[in-house]
Amino acid sequence: MKRLFAAFFFLLSLSAAALAASGKQPAPAGAFVGAPPEYTRFSAAELTRGFFALAFGSDLRIGPRPRGIRRFDHPIRAHIVAGGSVDRSAAMARVIEDYARQVPNLRLSVASGNEPAGVQPVDVEVQLIDEKNFKSALLAAFGAQITKTFVARTDPQCMTSVKSSAEGDILRTVSFIIVDKGDDVFLDCAYHELLHAFGLSNHDQRNPWTTLNQKRIVGYLPVYDRALLTLLYDPRLKPGMTAAQARAALPGAIKGLSLAGTK
Ligand SMILES: [Zn+2]
Repeated sequence: MKRLFAAFFFLLSLSAAALAASGKQPAPAGAFVGAPPEYTRFSAAELTRGFFALAFGSDLRIGPRPRGIRRFDHPIRAHIVAGGSVDRSAAMARVIEDYARQVPNLRLSVASGNEPAGVQPVDVEVQLIDEKNFKSALLAAFGAQITKTFVARTDPQCMTSVKSSAEGDILRTVSFIIVDKGDDVFLDCAYHELLHAFGLSNHDQRNPWTTLNQKRIVGYLPVYDRALLTLLYDPRLKPGMTAAQARAALPGAIKGLSLAGTK
């Protein structure tokens, strides 16, 4: 009986070790009031698990199934299309600049929209809209059929469309971000949708650390998602890589992270 108990206890502590994120810290400056705290240290297994759950597949996919990893393969230019009844253009630019600073491999910049014709086109378009215009914006962008399928499948508050080549290169993305439902909804949408735009297409409702868990409202770039995005844009990983290829490349990329996602 005692030995049985000991074995049981050992198993329990093993599963606890599998969820060993540590280094808990309050939400960073700039987060909305009441934003959840974050963990800042993760094991290689925790990062690997999140990477495979979020960088492969999409529960909102419409169209052919992509073969593998999707990401941009060139410097990314983002453009904000101002709109809605609350002016959040400057706040949206700060979110994009936050990504640019925290994930240098994105080579991300904000295009002013005033560049002369012929310069490099926009890669990531962000449209700021009121909630009441969400459905009509989807209709205008994607047409009735895709909008109907998408809205029937989920009850979206914000959304991102990602167009990529058969080889896995992201060609262009469009995100719709709601601006008139408070700071928490805006910031959560802004950070969440940009993760999709950069290639983390999926959700994981069982992952307690990511912004791409739809049961969470985060509103900032947590260390965990920053690490996943840094891995996705690591030179050792390439667009179109299969899960098996990514599994071979990932350990080296994780070693290259500063302390596997720690600050
Ligand atoms: Zn999402």
